[in-house]
Amino acid sequence: MALNRREFIGSMVASASLKDLALLHTTEKPASSSAQGEWVQNGMIDAGGMHEPYIFVVRRGGQRTDARQISEYEQSEPLIKQLHSQGIEVFHTHLYKGFGMAAEKEEMEQTRDAVAIAHRYGMKADTYVQWSSMMYETFFAEEPRAEHWIQRDISGLPILLTYGYQQSFRYKPCFSNLEYMEYLKKVVRYAILEVKTDFIHLDNFSLNAEPDSCHCPWCTSGFRKYLSTKYSSKQLRERFGFENISFVNPPQWNRNNPPGNLEIIYDPAIQEWIDFRCQLMADALRQISEYAKSLNPEVAMEINQGGISGENKSWLGGIDQARLLKFTESYVTEEDNAPAYHADGRLVSKIRSYKLARAYKNVLLASGVANDPVGLAELLAFNQTLGSVGTDPLLPETLKYIDFYRKNRDLYQESEDIAPVAVFRSYASLTYHHASAELSAILVEQSLIQSRIPFVLVFDEHLRNLADHKVLILPNSECLSDEQLTLIRRYVNDGGGLVVTEESGLYDDWRRMRTQPGLSGLVDGQLAGVDYQEEVQSQSNGTVAGMRKQVGRGRVAYIPSLQFDGELPPPEPYFTITNRFWKRPKDWKEITDAVNWAAGDPIPFTVDGPEYLVANYTYQPRKRRFLVHLVNYNATKVPSIADIHVRTYTARNEKTLRVTLYTPDSDKAQPLDYKSDGYSTTFTVAELRTYAFIAVEVSKAE
Ligand SMILES: [Zn+2]
Repeated sequence: MALNRREFIGSMVASASLKDLALLHTTEKPASSSAQGEWVQNGMIDAGGMHEPYIFVVRRGGQRTDARQISEYEQSEPLIKQLHSQGIEVFHTHLYKGFGMAAEKEEMEQTRDAVAIAHRYGMKADTYVQWSSMMYETFFAEEPRAEHWIQRDISGLPILLTYGYQQSFRYKPCFSNLEYMEYLKKVVRYAILEVKTDFIHLDNFSLNAEPDSCHCPWCTSGFRKYLSTKYSSKQLRERFGFENISFVNPPQWNRNNPPGNLEIIYDPAIQEWIDFRCQLMADALRQISEYAKSLNPEVAMEINQGGISGENKSWLGGIDQARLLKFTESYVTEEDNAPAYHADGRLVSKIRSYKLARAYKNVLLASGVANDPVGLAELLAFNQTLGSVGTDPLLPETLKYIDFYRKNRDLYQESEDIAPVAVFRSYASLTYHHASAELSAILVEQSLIQSRIPFVLVFDEHLRNLADHKVLILPNSECLSDEQLTLIRRYVNDGGGLVVTEESGLYDDWRRMRTQPGLSGLVDGQLAGVDYQEEVQSQSNGTVAGMRKQVGRGRVAYIPSLQFDGELPPPEPYFTITNRFWKRPKDWKEITDAVNWAAGDPIPFTVDGPEYLVANYTYQPRKRRFLVHLVNYNATKVPSIADIHVRTYTARNEKTLRVTLYTPDSDKAQPLDYKSDGYSTTFTVAELRTYAFIAVEVSKAE
């Protein structure tokens, strides 16, 4: 729905089409991946099957003495039949681990047979393919040239996967190496043409953190080539102070200054190296994904790269999710953020990871949800499908949610997230000063989550199309480019609401300090930024006053500081903002008040309730149905929440036809009484245990 800003203001004045405002949904998937692997969009229920091949179980050691029998059972007809009878639609199994196709030949053929069984039961197959392991002992025997295909550190030593002490047989291949990429394509070709897989799971999709980055000849020369392609001579002089970058190397570290302690990344070569690594991973994925789809356009691609869990992923792993998820239909997160409300006031969730997936029309496969009612509830509420439910044997709570989803599937399909509020996750700000920008993003998101304000996450590319959002929040988005500042100004002038916190806009996208605050005119009274510091001192905005003002047709609110509630935990290595920080800030009300004010007219949904009650809102355009999903994150301690009041705003010319509650705790859908005044519809949920959703059906506009 593309309501432009002028119509938006018009409708506001006429107080008519508030419903249209409610239809503010997420961004379109880029054309590059449309219509491929489409079946995933209809939702999926995936389970295995062990995903480790026997050869790996043996080489790793410590296995059970009956490991061979277990391995055979995990791909057997009785297991597949059992999963099918339990409602599993996609069978997950191993295919390629990185020992080389010669060493794995026998087990790859067994996988082909297992996939044939799954297909016979009408299931699809999800096959594991290792992205970044090369078990050199067998691989080098098969392919002696492969000693040149691996990542090497600055001393020339092979770079390893970082699984504790005992997996030093796993080298990491280098994605700059074209010969390795050709080899990986052979694996993909086998997976699609021989095995006839429907879904490729690429595991361990990331690079190692510094100082463990690849210094092989292809990466070093590739980095220099990247710089000379990206920048003109004049731009190189502006970037580095000189033009000839033929001797610029990937970063080197000294013993006294480990990279995990680097708080602000100023060095242009390090900034560019991060960008190079992110682009390298995106280009490699694109190659593999396009190759796979050239063999079978229906094959869905998935990467295990993790979600948004407080890490500086571009800096640590060469992972810029916004570049990657255009080439996938799905991604995996193994983050250790089991959804729960804790006694110390933290509300831990995977909501950010689900919102990331939805921003790029991906389905999230989250690990660790099996048999956890809150985890399963969060899945359905935010993923709009189950994705992965674990491995055999499936436990009772998991089976209950599978049944519930299958019964009510049409209430999840073709749904759009309702997105009046957009939280900006700025690549440059989060990458170059993660400690500060990530904490602010987390605190703002916590405030919205725990107040049940509908929001989506937006990334740099989305600033070009903000018309669908009533409010844009810049949570300490320090580094904004000139183009981004222009887009933000235009958005506000045209009627958008803007909420700015802390040091947003004080730096450019190379994190150079702007002599004039980037948002001046929109925001008054911001303290100036700080240029290069050898030892980073934190800025205190404590004395600066907040402000609200009308600019053009829009509104701007400025919040000079966000206060962590309690004592701020000490920094983690690489300044990861782990869930120890995931708490509603002390001044959360200031944030939600500013959002409500900046929106101009009411946010289309309000749900009353305690801070551990969370909501998600979707709309099904074809069925003209709004859906309000409710999850009790404190279900273990407070098993039931009573009398939850919900208000939705509808357009004057539309009528609410029916309000119905669905919950896994009851076999039957329950009609709810509601009141409608032609402007809003209100109803009460008498009791919520862990999860329920309410469908609000409306008539066609006259
Ligand atoms: Zn390399």
